[in-house]
Amino acid sequence: MEVENIKPWLFRVQPYQGESLSHFLGRFRRANDLTPTGLGKATGLGGAIARWEKFRFNPPASRQQLEALATVVGVDADSLEEMLAPARVGMNLEPIRLCAACYADSPCHKIEWQFKATKGCDRHKLHLLSECPNCGGRFKIPALWIDGHCQRCFMRFTEMENYQKFVEV
Ligand SMILES: [Zn+2]
Ligand SMILES: [Zn+2]
Repeated sequence: MEVENIKPWLFRVQPYQGESLSHFLGRFRRANDLTPTGLGKATGLGGAIARWEKFRFNPPASRQQLEALATVVGVDADSLEEMLAPARVGMNLEPIRLCAACYADSPCHKIEWQFKATKGCDRHKLHLLSECPNCGGRFKIPALWIDGHCQRCFMRFTEMENYQKFVEV
């Protein structure tokens, strides 16, 4: 019997609540020592993986593509879809934004931080950071957030909470 779709040799990675697809793909690839090209080959999605890691969804990810990804990463297509901005929601590719207080609770980039309508973090009542408060460097795409620090000055994301301004109520 052909069991081509089951890839038991791959490590599974559990998604975080609200995690963006870019961040999830980066973690999955590193756990499995795969490049974007390698994961593109394993899923049959080719260059779409590298595109999605940069939040480039033109054309948008189709259900069929998400299902192909699901069989490889072991996370169902519905959960993968939640890692994307819904079609009706406008999204900013950049700057990549961060609520450091959220990151301290759950170390991931959240997709809602890239929504155009998102002005701040509702949970912490804090403005989002769109650059490193220490050196002013832009944040890399979430797929490359390896150790949770600024890649220029190495300030930890969890330390950046003190620099976030409160949203006036
Ligand atoms: Zn927050
Ligand atoms: Zn920095």
